[in-house]
Amino acid sequence: MNNKNYTDVIIIGAGQAGLAVSYLLTQEKIDHLVFEKTVIGSSWKSQRWDSFKLNTPNWMNFLPGQNLARHADREAFINHIEFASQLKNYAETHHLPIIENTEIRSLSYDSQLNLYRLETLSDSQEAIWHTKQVVVATGSQNQPQIPTFANKLPTHIQQLHAVDYKNPSQLPKKRVLIVGSGQTGCQIAEELSATHKVYLATGKVGRSPRRYRGLDMMDWMNQTGMMDQTTSELKATKSPEPTQPQVSGVGPNGHTISLQSLRQKGVILLGRFIDTDPEQLYFDHSLQSNIRYADQFSELLKKKVDNYIQENSITATVDHYIDSADIADTTMTTSLAEQVATTEIDTIIWSTGFRSDFKWIQLPILDRNAIPIHTDGVTSLSNVYFIGLPWLRKKKSGIIFGILEDAEFIVQQIVVSRCS
Ligand SMILES: Cc1cc2nc3c(=O)[nH]c(=O)nc-3n(C[C@H](O)[C@H](O)[C@H](O)COP(=O)(O)OP(=O)(O)OC[C@H]3O[C@@H](n4cnc5c(N)ncnc54)[C@H](O)[C@@H]3O)c2cc1C
Repeated sequence: MNNKNYTDVIIIGAGQAGLAVSYLLTQEKIDHLVFEKTVIGSSWKSQRWDSFKLNTPNWMNFLPGQNLARHADREAFINHIEFASQLKNYAETHHLPIIENTEIRSLSYDSQLNLYRLETLSDSQEAIWHTKQVVVATGSQNQPQIPTFANKLPTHIQQLHAVDYKNPSQLPKKRVLIVGSGQTGCQIAEELSATHKVYLATGKVGRSPRRYRGLDMMDWMNQTGMMDQTTSELKATKSPEPTQPQVSGVGPNGHTISLQSLRQKGVILLGRFIDTDPEQLYFDHSLQSNIRYADQFSELLKKKVDNYIQENSITATVDHYIDSADIADTTMTTSLAEQVATTEIDTIIWSTGFRSDFKWIQLPILDRNAIPIHTDGVTSLSNVYFIGLPWLRKKKSGIIFGILEDAEFIVQQIVVSRCS
C-alpha cells in the first residue's frame, strides 16, 4: 500500500453534487481530488430505464458556472443519457480533477497525522490517501430497497427492482405487478400498460399537474418559494419528508400522470402490498385514500399558485385546456381487490426506492441506522461535509436545481475553515 498520497480536500462521488463542489474549489484554487467508484454521472446511466426523461425541465439543469441546457428548449425534457453526457462535458470543460473507477472503501481519522484517512480500491489495487477536508457526495440512492416478505414469493414470479428495468421486451410474460406509485412506479406502469396486463400497488404519494396557468408547475414552485422551503421549516411542521410527486417528463412538454389516468389505460389499481403466501398476494385497504391524497395534493398546489398569482397581480392565463389526468376522482368507484392469486402474476417490479449506504464511514457522524447526522450538510466533526442528500438544506437540495446553492454553502464552509 502506498501511504504517500495527500491532497487538501477529497470529494467522494462524481454525480452532479461532487462535480459542483469540485468546480467551486477549482475556482478557489484549492487542491483537491474527486474519487468516483465507476464513471462520472454513473447513477444517471445505470439507475434509469431506456425511455426515461428527466422530471425536471431543461431550465432547471444548471451547475455552478454553467447552464447545462443553454442551447435547448427551456421547457423540454432531456433523457438521462444526455444528462450524464452533460455532466461528463462539464467535468472536461472545467478540467475537474476526477479519478474514476476508484472506490473509497473506508473513511476514518488518523490521529497520529491529524488527517482524515481514506482507503481506495482501483482495479484490485488498494491505496491510502490522507486529506484535511472531506466532502461526501455519494448520493442517497445506493442500494435497491425491497421489503423482506419478498423472499416468501413463489419462484415462478420473476422479481426485479426498478433499477434493473430497462424496457418492456425484458418481460416476455405479460402479467406484471408494479409495487410503488411514486414517479418511477407510475411511469413504468404507464409504459407497460401498452403491452402488458399491469397491476399497481399504490402508496401515499402526491401528484403534481405537469403544467398549470401557462407554465410548468416546477416554474410556479420556484416562483412561489416552495422549492426554497428549508429543512428546519419542514421539521417545524412535524411532517415526514414528502416524496417527489407523480408527474412525467415524457412528451414534448412532459405530461401529468395520475392513478386515474393509469386506470383509464387499463392498469388495475390496488392498495399497499403488505404480505404474501404461496397462494395469494395481500393488499391493504388504502387505495381510495391514496387516490384522495394525490387529488388533494394537486388541488393544494394549484390553490397556492392561484393565490400567488392573485396576490402579485400576475397576468397568467386561465387554462382552457383541461388536463384530464389531473381531475379529482369524485366517483371513488375503484375496485377494491384485497388479494390477487400468485398464479395471476408473472413478474413483480419493485419500485420501492433505494437505501443509502454509508457503512464505509468509520466516523461518529452516522446514527444507529447509518444515516448521516448533519445540519445543512455540516457534521459535528470539523471538515467533514455531506452534499446531495434530499432535504440537505432545502426542498430543492435533492435535485439538480438545488445543487448550486448547496455547493456554494459547503465550499464557503471549507474556505472559512482553512482560514481559521
Ligand atoms: C429514478 C430517479 C429519477 C430522478 N430524476 C430526477 C430528475 O428528473 N431531476 C432531478 O433534478 N433529479 C432527479 N433525481 C434525483 C437526483 O438528482 C439524482 O438522484 C442524482 O443522481 C443525485 O446526484 P448526486 O450527485 O447527489 O448523487 P449520484 O448521482 O448518485 O452520484 C454519486 C456518485 O458517487 C459514486 N459513489 C458512491 N459510493 C462511492 C464510494 N464509496 N467511492 C467513490 N464513489 C462512490 C457513485 O458511483 C455515483 O457516481 C432522480 C432520482 C431518481 C432515483
